[in-house]
Amino acid sequence: MATKKDGKIWTAGMDNAFTGQTLTSLELINETSNNTTLPVLPEVWVLKIGGQSIMDRGRAAVFPILEELIAAKDTGIQFILGTGGGTRARHVYAQALDLNMPTGMLAKLGAGIPVQNARMLQMLTAKHGGIMCYDDDFEKLPLYLRTGCMPIMSGMPPNEFWEKSARIGRIPPNRTDAGVYLMGEFLGAKGVIYIKDEDGLYTDDPKKDPNAKFIPEISAEQLIANQQDDLVVERVVLEYMQRARHMKEIRIINGTKKGNITAALSGENIGTRIYSETNQ
Ligand code: ADP
Ligand code: MG
Repeated sequence: MATKKDGKIWTAGMDNAFTGQTLTSLELINETSNNTTLPVLPEVWVLKIGGQSIMDRGRAAVFPILEELIAAKDTGIQFILGTGGGTRARHVYAQALDLNMPTGMLAKLGAGIPVQNARMLQMLTAKHGGIMCYDDDFEKLPLYLRTGCMPIMSGMPPNEFWEKSARIGRIPPNRTDAGVYLMGEFLGAKGVIYIKDEDGLYTDDPKKDPNAKFIPEISAEQLIANQQDDLVVERVVLEYMQRARHMKEIRIINGTKKGNITAALSGENIGTRIYSETNQ
């Protein structure tokens, strides 16, 4: 017979620091803040191949990037590829917004598109070890990496119907930049690199504003404070960076310029580096 404590049959013998706590107490939360967390795959890069910025440009953009990635892999550099959605995701967001769908539905619908892009990349790289991974394959990543494979995943976080509302508007705030960032943070990866079609971050969208100035390096805190209208990376990533245990910086590079990926994977300071000044 289990002994009862306060009428709860399972607590006897299971007493611990959290027994009887709501886990919501600020004091208790503070007490857990000093723990260092395990870097799961510290030698592995997490890369995102842009949906709109790269995939939608077709073979002219995609083929040379894959060539560079495969060459890097064959020198022993390990990475996981996450994919973006792009124009097809934007189409379904626009349509769903028109039909009054809530944010969670947009996230659910949007999640399908990066999977399509990941599937195509997997086939294109199959003979070099490209392997499609889903959320449940996360624990098998070490095996795939060790066998020389190139794991490819959708960049979209699996929030779907549970996606949190944005402060303003109904577009899911956590899309593929966020998903790829959070994957890198969980894994305690070597770094997170966004492969897009501009040299990095500018003071404004360089496609729309020819006077936009290139920003080689800026803190996430400063970038949020600057309140510039448009960014090269999803805003939530800048917030998450301030809570990071591992991924205190990200890099955005132009994958349409040959050699940039190789340089970034060799640790060269190219593109834009965004870093967090907040210590966690
Ligand atoms: P992805 O498909 O990789 O998610 P996005 O189109 O969502 O790409 O974001 C990358 C694009 O962001 C760039 O191609 C650029 O046109 C645009 N952009 C908007 N604001 C900025 C900015 N401040 N600096 C650089 N690029 C910007
Ligand atoms: Mg995007």
